[in-house]
Amino acid sequence: MLKVGITGGIGSGKSTISKIFELLGIPVFYADDHAKKVMTEDPILMDAIKSTFGNEAYFDDGSLNRKYIAHIVFNDANQLAKLNAIVHPATFRAFDIWAAQIKTPSYILKEAALLFESNAHLMCDKTIMVYAPLQMRISRVIARDGITKAEVESRNSKQFDDELKLKMADYVINNDDTELVIPKILALHEHFLTLAQAQ
Ligand code: ATP
Repeated sequence: MLKVGITGGIGSGKSTISKIFELLGIPVFYADDHAKKVMTEDPILMDAIKSTFGNEAYFDDGSLNRKYIAHIVFNDANQLAKLNAIVHPATFRAFDIWAAQIKTPSYILKEAALLFESNAHLMCDKTIMVYAPLQMRISRVIARDGITKAEVESRNSKQFDDELKLKMADYVINNDDTELVIPKILALHEHFLTLAQAQ
């Protein structure tokens, strides 16, 4: 089974494009959703979060005190790096469990905002970068989430530069209205089916 990672800057459209692959019958693991889930479901990770950030990281009912964690990591790159260093391995474990249950003979997609930053790409056979320029991404996220330009820029600054991701990725989907996206997805889909067959 071929493993394909798909990433892109905030608001590039990686989730939208992943949903099109899903429509083609390809199972997709949404890493960011799973990262949130493991923080309240993976006991190893929960213990690590408590010992790193204190017991206040969780409420008595076991739910995550997101405000407390956000307050600690929001403006402190070291604390954010610490959190990522314990959450990423837990998300990798969740991916392995998820992938083991998939019975497809072809390929699966792992959608992750921090695919390269977390080294998750090393566990993928191929990678796709969804590209759109920053200004376009900012407008899309403001329209989608109703947050400020500064907030989008702050989140964007925590990701690798587009130039680096473009170099690291095996394939690029331009989601910037310069080319039709669906034919590109269909061509990649056929390509991955062929690669998976040859495995
Ligand atoms: P995030 O990193 O925040 O999770 P993302 O890369 O997954 O974002 P999406 O949520 O797929 O991005 O897209 C961001 C917004 O832009 C959504 O509201 C989506 O509907 C819209 N969008 C995506 N692609 C296009 C496009 N080609 N044209 C117009 N709007 C688009």
